[in-house]
Amino acid sequence: MVKIFIDPGHGGADPGAGGNGLFEKNVTLSIATRIRDILQNEYQNASVKMSRTGDQTVSLKERTDMANTWGADFYLSVHINSGGGTGYEDYIYIKISDNSRTAEIQRIVHSEVLKLNGLSDRGIKKADFHVVRESSMPAMLSENGFIDTASDAAKMKDTNWIENVARGHVNGLARAFSLQKSNNSTPAQAPSSTTASTTGRQKRTLYLPANADTWRIYPLNVEPVKVNALADRLHPSKFGGLHYEILGEPQPNVYIIQTDQFGKVQIYGGPETGAVVK
Ligand SMILES: [Zn+2]
Repeated sequence: MVKIFIDPGHGGADPGAGGNGLFEKNVTLSIATRIRDILQNEYQNASVKMSRTGDQTVSLKERTDMANTWGADFYLSVHINSGGGTGYEDYIYIKISDNSRTAEIQRIVHSEVLKLNGLSDRGIKKADFHVVRESSMPAMLSENGFIDTASDAAKMKDTNWIENVARGHVNGLARAFSLQKSNNSTPAQAPSSTTASTTGRQKRTLYLPANADTWRIYPLNVEPVKVNALADRLHPSKFGGLHYEILGEPQPNVYIIQTDQFGKVQIYGGPETGAVVK
């Protein structure tokens, strides 16, 4: 297992930076929680621990002590920038060589995050921050946009952006540490069009009407689906309703669908929800 320690910056009595109605501590927790969930749901050889999972006050020393005691393989600290500017940058400890494994991981994660976050590139950097200095494993701190710049802050209010930033970090970690996708995320072959035509069966479609606000979605292979909801939901109202091909029905009224945003998920679509199966 690759042990990845995820550190949402600030928290509790320390809100971090603020601006445009946002506090850094909340944005970092949203991103970090999503990174954890994706790693746990979609990869089989990643073990994750977080420095905080709610709005708690945790000192910098407590954070690095936690990672060091656990014996993490990598320390990822998630922050939001401030001070007037725009874009994305990340940091490793200032005394670390460009030829180091840490610098290699930084370059990989940096490039993957920038593919998805829609922010300008402020570069790979080094600094003497506590968390990258006092952690005994390779460590990196990412600064995901400027909270006091309106255009960056607007992105932070969008759950799609949070998801993309988290996925960028995960894609980088997956590349840097050769993380393996779990079977959950590539379940048994969905019925192919060939199979459908030879059996004469029509593809079934799930329609989620626009008049419902949100649809809870669930990771694959959890039962019952009423618990274990992913933090995320589908929002049909934004799109005037959503159509998905049904890839499986593991329980009555529970459908496996492929979403752009969250990959393959389960969704509950009983008659009382307004979902329509065609
Ligand atoms: Zn910060």
